[in-house]
Amino acid sequence: MSSRTMVAGNWKMNTTPAEGERLAQDIMETVGTPATKVVFGVPSIQLMSIKALTDKHENYFVAAQNMHHEDGGAYTGELSAAMLAAVEIDYVILGHSERRDYFGEEDGLIGMKVAKALAAGIKPIYCCGEKLDIREAGNHEHVVGKQIEQALFSLSPQQMKDVVIAYEPVWAIGTGVTASPEQAQQMHAFIRGIIARQFGDAIAEDTTILYGGSVKPGNAAELFEQPDVDGGLVGGASLKADGFAEIIKAR
Ligand code: PEP
Repeated sequence: MSSRTMVAGNWKMNTTPAEGERLAQDIMETVGTPATKVVFGVPSIQLMSIKALTDKHENYFVAAQNMHHEDGGAYTGELSAAMLAAVEIDYVILGHSERRDYFGEEDGLIGMKVAKALAAGIKPIYCCGEKLDIREAGNHEHVVGKQIEQALFSLSPQQMKDVVIAYEPVWAIGTGVTASPEQAQQMHAFIRGIIARQFGDAIAEDTTILYGGSVKPGNAAELFEQPDVDGGLVGGASLKADGFAEIIKAR
């Protein structure tokens, strides 16, 4: 069980390089060696500097927040998988709801990014999750199941071993509203079930499934206690060293 645990922070478009270094240093000093993998999802300009810091500490890793699906070319402002791999970035967050909402990313495209990342040796953190109207209509499992099917089912079982899934109900992201531990557990068990049917029980049992959506020091422990909740993808609360350290220690 413990090999699949992870606490990942998504800094989004926050922190200057100096602020980011301070934040990472403070977290690592406060926590020491964590009992779980800890991932800092940092702005692109900080990938190399934070990587240099995490390399000195056991169990800390760096994630990019996005990546282009093509190998290279005329895509102004984008980063390729090869660029991330060249500086040994460990993970890449793909399909975050903000990328879906503000940049029109859909599962077909996100699936191409997932495959490119894996081919370059970078582990994708694939984000999925339903909007409020879908939850209210009772269609959340259907929608999340489709997201996973479209983006991940063309992978081989071997590739699936390197994929982290983050279930992030959109109604809980940045809203202060958190899914209840029971709601999170129910969806995580559902996700593990469909991974088992497609890729086999052993792979499903080893797949890290994170919960994201207003995780805070005060609710992390009860979420992480759920048997299928392997940790969290944390936005706002990952920007305060003390609070994020508490969340890491809750895992
Ligand atoms: C996120 O953006 O992935 C997220 C979970 O944000 P927050 O923790 O702020 O809800």
